[in-house]
Amino acid sequence: MKKVSLLLLIIFSVFLSGCVNSSKEPKDMLSRIKFRNKIVIGIKKDSKPFGFTKNGELAGFDVDVAKNIAKRLLGDDNLTEFVDVTADSRISDLNSGKVDIIIATMSINAKRADIIDFTSPYFIAGQALMIPEDSKLNSIENLNTRKVGIILGSTGEKTIRLLAPNAMVIGKRNYEDVFKLLKENKVDAILADDTILYGFIMDNKGYKILPARYTREFYAIALRQGEENKELKEELNKIINHMQQSGKLNRIKEKWIPNLQKTE
Ligand code: GLU
Repeated sequence: MKKVSLLLLIIFSVFLSGCVNSSKEPKDMLSRIKFRNKIVIGIKKDSKPFGFTKNGELAGFDVDVAKNIAKRLLGDDNLTEFVDVTADSRISDLNSGKVDIIIATMSINAKRADIIDFTSPYFIAGQALMIPEDSKLNSIENLNTRKVGIILGSTGEKTIRLLAPNAMVIGKRNYEDVFKLLKENKVDAILADDTILYGFIMDNKGYKILPARYTREFYAIALRQGEENKELKEELNKIINHMQQSGKLNRIKEKWIPNLQKTE
């Protein structure tokens, strides 16, 4: 009998603590972020100069955007918790609740918009090819008989299948591994956003980006779908708009990608 009442007591206290927690933590995401005084953001660390590690700290264009958002939402740009995501993991990291939002060179596209939501864009990139400087390759069609490296879960995956359907595609989970393929001559080119290719050009001699841009990549902040994220989305859109109007986004651009157009 004693055991039964002890069990009932445990069940009741677990139930009670559940009620207390859920009544404390607001359901609405904007209120929840304000309540816990911290925003959890999915960021990449393999995508210099947008998200990478510098002197042991995360840095880059996306990191600056993230800090600005924390400053405007919570009054302090340090009230962030950064969680490392990859192109391939970011949607499930978001939808599983591991992060509140994603700021990770992520392009808006229709397929993604079926399962997650996006703010308005804060930057426009374009997909391009990076090749060794002495390569004769001069168009994406040339890749039909060749090997190309791409990042799994990126929009480049679709582009290559569309524009060079007979290319042999090798996919990796992070950018360093794809670049290694090119360095070791295991692929003839990499197809990725010009922004991230630019990061490799900055640090490595002997490579170039071809002038053609095959897509327009509208980078936006990703958030979960649903009523609970509505106010957060409105607030983020206001912040992006303010960053655009005040010249903040341009300053971030100048800081991280001053010569993007001159890499061709
Ligand atoms: N912007 C592209 C995408 O969202 C490629 C960059 C990335 O890997 O994040 O897929």
